[in-house]
Amino acid sequence: MSSQKVSEHIAKVAAERAKRLRPDGIDQYANLSGEFAHMNEDPFTDRIEREPYRDHVTAAVIGGGFAGLMASAHLKESGVSDVRIVDTGGDFGGTWYWNRYPGVQCDVASMIYLPLLEETGHVPTEWYVHGPEILEHCQRIGKHYGLYENALFHTQVTGLDWDEAAQLWTVRTDRGDEFTAQFVVMGLGHLSVPKLPGIPGIETFEGHSFHASRWDYAYTGDPVGGPLDNLRDKRVAIIGTGASAVQCIPHLATASQELFVLQRTPSVIEVRNNRPIDPEWFAQMATPGWQQRWLENYAATMTSAEPPAEDLINDSWTAMAKMWGNAEQDVPAESDTSEEPLAPWYYADVKKMGQIHARVEETVKDSRTAELLKPWYHLACKRLTFHDEYLGAFNEPTVRLVDTDGKGVERITPRGVVVDGTEYEVDCIIYASGFEVGTAPTRRAGFDPVGRDGRRLSEHWINGMRTMHGLHVHGFPNAFLVQSLTGGTRFSNLSHNLSEAAKTVAAVIAHAVTTGVDVVELTQQAEDSWMDNVGIDPDWRTFLGTECTPGYSNNEGTDLGPHSLWDAHKFPDGLGFFRHLQEWRGNGEFDGLEFHRSDS
Ligand code: NDP
Repeated sequence: MSSQKVSEHIAKVAAERAKRLRPDGIDQYANLSGEFAHMNEDPFTDRIEREPYRDHVTAAVIGGGFAGLMASAHLKESGVSDVRIVDTGGDFGGTWYWNRYPGVQCDVASMIYLPLLEETGHVPTEWYVHGPEILEHCQRIGKHYGLYENALFHTQVTGLDWDEAAQLWTVRTDRGDEFTAQFVVMGLGHLSVPKLPGIPGIETFEGHSFHASRWDYAYTGDPVGGPLDNLRDKRVAIIGTGASAVQCIPHLATASQELFVLQRTPSVIEVRNNRPIDPEWFAQMATPGWQQRWLENYAATMTSAEPPAEDLINDSWTAMAKMWGNAEQDVPAESDTSEEPLAPWYYADVKKMGQIHARVEETVKDSRTAELLKPWYHLACKRLTFHDEYLGAFNEPTVRLVDTDGKGVERITPRGVVVDGTEYEVDCIIYASGFEVGTAPTRRAGFDPVGRDGRRLSEHWINGMRTMHGLHVHGFPNAFLVQSLTGGTRFSNLSHNLSEAAKTVAAVIAHAVTTGVDVVELTQQAEDSWMDNVGIDPDWRTFLGTECTPGYSNNEGTDLGPHSLWDAHKFPDGLGFFRHLQEWRGNGEFDGLEFHRSDS
C-alpha cells in the first residue's frame, strides 16, 4: 500500500469528521423525561402494586442485570443468603430486559458472554445467541440462586445514605421502601439510560414513536421475534445506524410497507458468521473449568502483547485484535514512519476499511446506496457492528437509505422527518439513538449515595470516578461497585470484567460476614495510589479529540470531560488485571481495605 493512499484516506476521514462536529456535543440529545416520559415506560411487564419494605437485609444489590446477578450469585455461593436485588425493570436482565428489538443478539461469543454457564448447566444454542435466550438465561440465574424471592422489581432507588450510628445503609425507593442493608452492591451498567436525538420539532410528530430499547410490540406486532405483521401497511422511519439499528433493520426491511433508514454516520459492518452450537461438540469441550479457560483465552488473545497460540473464539473481534497487534507488518519497508507513532495503525486501518468497503460494494446492488453505506472514520473510534444481512436489506425494494451527509435529521414535523429540505411522511419513527454517556454516573443512576460525614458520591467524583479496582470507594464503607471504569482494563468482553468484579466483591463481603466484621472501608491511601495509575494515555486522548469522528467514545467530539468512558488503569493487559484481582482476593489480606468491628 502506498503512503499516498494512506494520506488520501486520512484526509477523507478528516473531512467526514469535520461535517459531524457540532458545538453542542452531548447536549444535542434529549432525555426520555418530561414530554417524552411515556417513551421510557416499561412495555413488557405490568407493574404490580405492593406494600413498601421496612426491613433489613445483609446485602442490597442495586441492578438486576449481569453485574447484579453475578454479584448476587457469588454472594449466595459464599454463604451470604440474605440478598435483595432492586431493579427498575419488571424482571432480571438489565440491558437484556429492556433491549428486545427484533434481531437483538449478543455481539460477543455466547460461551464467554453468557455468565455462569457451567454453574447453571445451560448450553447456548448459537455461537451468538439472540436476546430472548439471554433474557431467559438471566431468569435462569435468578431461579438457580433463589434471587426472585427477595427481589424488588419496577423499583427505582432514590436515596442511599450511610447511617454512621447504626453502621448500616438506608435504602429508599420510589415505591416508599425504606430498608437497611449492611452492604450495598451497585451494578448499574454504562449504557442504561436511553436518549433521544434533540432534533427540532421532535415533540410535534403526530404519528407513533418509540425508542428501540422500549420496543412497542403492541404497535409492530409479534412479541417473540416472528414477522412484525402490523407494519405491513406502515411507513416506518428509523433514526440511527449504530449497533442496535444494524440488528433490527433487516427485520423492519421485510416487515414494513416502506422503511426509511435515516443515517448520519454509516457503521462498520463486520462479518457475523453465526451458527448453531452442536450439543455433542459442546459436551466434549465442556470439561470442568471450561468457561474460565475460554474467558482467559479470549482476554489474552484480545489484550496480551504475546497472545496464546490457540484462539478459541477466532471471530471478527479477535481478528481485529490481531490486526492491531501486527499492524507494523502493514507498513511498507521503504516508509520512514519514525516521526509518526500512529503510522502502523493508519496502514492497518486503511487495509481493513478497504475490506469493509469491498463488502458493501459486493452486497449492495445500487451503487449510489453502496457509496453512502461506506464508513469513513478510524476503526478504533466507534464500536464495531457485526451482521450478515444488514447490507443486503438495502436491496429490498421497500427500503430507502436517507443519508444526511453527516448532519443528522434536519427537522421532525407532525407528519414525518425532513432531510435536506425533503419531507418523508411516515406513520412511525423508531429512535435507535443510543444511550446517555459522558454525564455524571450519579445522574444516570438516579440517586446520589451519601457516605461518611454526609459526603455525596457526586462530590467525591466531581473530577471523575475515583476507586480502587473500579470496585471500592474511600468514604463509602460497605458499598461496592460492579463495573469496569477505573478498573484495570477495557476490552470487548464486559461480561468477563463483571465476572471478576462480582467474585471480588462477594469475596470481601463474605469475609466480613464470616469474620463478624461490621465495616469494610477503602483507605484514602489505597484509593490515591490506585488512581495515580488511572488515566487516558495522552496520545490516545489527542487522537480521540482531534481525529475521531464524533460519537459516544469521545463525548461527541468535544472535550472528554471527567466522565468519559476511557479512564482505565494502565495495567499491562487484561488478563494481568484479572490475575491481580484473583491474587488480591485470594490471599485473604485484601490489601487497601480496613475491616472494623464495632466491639473492637
Ligand atoms: P449508538 O449510540 O451506537 O447509535 C446511535 C445512532 O443514532 C448513531 O447511528 C447516531 O449517529 C444516530 N443519531 C444520533 N443523533 C442523530 C440525529 N440527530 N440524526 C440522525 N442520526 C442520529 O446506539 P446503539 O443503541 O446502536 O448502540 C449503543 C451501544 O450499545 C453500542 O455501541 C454497543 O456498545 C451496545 N450494543 C450492544 C449490542 C450487542 O452487544 N449485541 C447490540 C446493540 C448495542 P452518529 O453515529 O452519527 O452519532
